Amino acid sequence: MMSFLSQTDPKIAQAINNEIKRAQQGVELIASENFVSRAVLEAMGSVFTNKYSEGYPGKRYYSGNQFIDIAEQLAIDRAKKLFGADHANVQPHSGSQANTAAYLAFVKPGDTIMGMNLSMGGHLSHGSPVNFSGMLFNVVSYGVDEENHRIDWDNVREVALKEKPKLIISGASAYPREIDFHKFREIADEVGAIHLADVAHIAGLIVAGLHPDPIPECEVVTTTTHKTLRGPRGGMILCQEEHAKMINKMIFPGIQGGPLEHMIAAKAVAFKEALQPDFKEYQRQIILNAKALAKSLIGEGMILVSGGTDNHLIMIDVTEQGTTGKLAENALHEAGIFTNKNMIPYDKRTPFDPSGIRIGTPALTTRGMKEPEMKAIGELLAEVVKKVESEAVISKVRRQITELCSKFPLYEGLKA
Ligand SMILES: *Cc1c(COP(=O)(O)O)cnc(C)c1O
Repeated sequence: MMSFLSQTDPKIAQAINNEIKRAQQGVELIASENFVSRAVLEAMGSVFTNKYSEGYPGKRYYSGNQFIDIAEQLAIDRAKKLFGADHANVQPHSGSQANTAAYLAFVKPGDTIMGMNLSMGGHLSHGSPVNFSGMLFNVVSYGVDEENHRIDWDNVREVALKEKPKLIISGASAYPREIDFHKFREIADEVGAIHLADVAHIAGLIVAGLHPDPIPECEVVTTTTHKTLRGPRGGMILCQEEHAKMINKMIFPGIQGGPLEHMIAAKAVAFKEALQPDFKEYQRQIILNAKALAKSLIGEGMILVSGGTDNHLIMIDVTEQGTTGKLAENALHEAGIFTNKNMIPYDKRTPFDPSGIRIGTPALTTRGMKEPEMKAIGELLAEVVKKVESEAVISKVRRQITELCSKFPLYEGLKA
């Protein structure tokens, strides 16, 4: 039986089927990616995509939202339970959208905001000049210590005292260590700033109790739903009750129109999954895997930013191997190992060809891989990085990766 999609649009069906195969046959080490469940995929592909539901459950601008309301209310209730938050807005289309609305709820264009420098591990939306955040606000930034690559608290405090930001953003996209949200709270209090934690990468670890909790330390917390949290692509805002109205107003009508209710239903499904006891086990294994992978890489002579990891993510400085992030990413891709090039702290190279690559274990852990596979993958990854120009090494590793992947089925039987 041919699917509706393959009949209507064979080219798109083929592209999707090729993507399924690509995922099955490669080692997904991109730290921000994961594999959602079939249940989440089904909710995303549902008729909820048809409905306009501007507003919030019980207060919509269109009729016929009685079933949409059930799904969105479940997403809200589950998110609140998961994070122990007063209020959740599950409508942001993405993490960047969540940040946009959260900033606008507390600061005005031209105000000073402070976030981690992009080149040190921060996110684009934390004030990069090429992003809306850098265009709209006066941005000041903090970084990490040049020696140990941990957040430089003297620097955070010094910049905050000097620049008096109205909003301090904690959270990062490329930081392999625990974040002390309480210290950010103390500094924010010292200068009278709002504290926003953007936990996009580490949300799964937080809800599993494996990372310090930002909720008691912040006026507002933003996150994506698709990284360690293993939900559909999207964003979310959590906040204290007193800020709930303003946050809702800034998402709609502030920066968005109709919410993506098929995605919100899928968020609800993912949150239900995250409330199960085995989700905690999954998050624990993500960290065990990251530690095992780090150990394997160090054993192969690789240099890791900060010397290792506390979370799901590892930053490798490939300078020691005489190569660059771009060359390493390309060679690894050929070998079936998916990573991304990334700036490392105090990088002397450019974002287009930086000195590092960033990797993480959420996706492989979903696939069921454990410490022995991490050891093997660390060795194979190092082998390629040491010989990025060797066709022979790349094709040998490619064969070993294909063999390894065949033992860890992914989306079995799924076809467009
Ligand atoms: C991934 C990420 C985001 C943005 O998510 P998008 O959904 O891609 O917009 C925001 N903040 C941090 C810290 C991230 O890592």
